[in-house]
Amino acid sequence: MLNKDQIYTLLSGIPDPEIPVITIDELGILRSVEITNDGCEVTITPTYTGCPAMQMIEDQIKEILHANGIDQVKIKTTYSPAWTTDWLSPEAKEKLKQYGISPPLSSLDTVSFIQCPRCNSFNTEVISDFGSTACKALYRCNDCKEAFDYFKGI
Ligand SMILES: [Zn+2]
Repeated sequence: MLNKDQIYTLLSGIPDPEIPVITIDELGILRSVEITNDGCEVTITPTYTGCPAMQMIEDQIKEILHANGIDQVKIKTTYSPAWTTDWLSPEAKEKLKQYGISPPLSSLDTVSFIQCPRCNSFNTEVISDFGSTACKALYRCNDCKEAFDYFKGI
């Protein structure tokens, strides 16, 4: 049986289903791992309520643990404290940008200052509140005329 830290390390490598360059650990979705009498309990916090990717993440967590001999896996979803973009490390934000997604600003910022990931212009406008997935909004840059996804989180 693996210990808590080993399990956490295993799970921390799971990529986000929607943004494969970033892991669920870097996103702040993976919160904690506890060993229980017959297996383990994993606590996750969705980036926002009803994010469709969460089911895929849960399935992946179970799959990896089952493959490592842990049959009893309980996934606990907690909304308290609520996920915030502040949980993203600067490295994670940089990875999002490299991937062509405008990284979320701190939770205190407003959506009127969304930066274009291509030319860094702040002269952008929202096209749709829902981009390629519900976790993202579609924006267009008025300078380079490119459309891009903004990862809005909550
Ligand atoms: Zn631009």
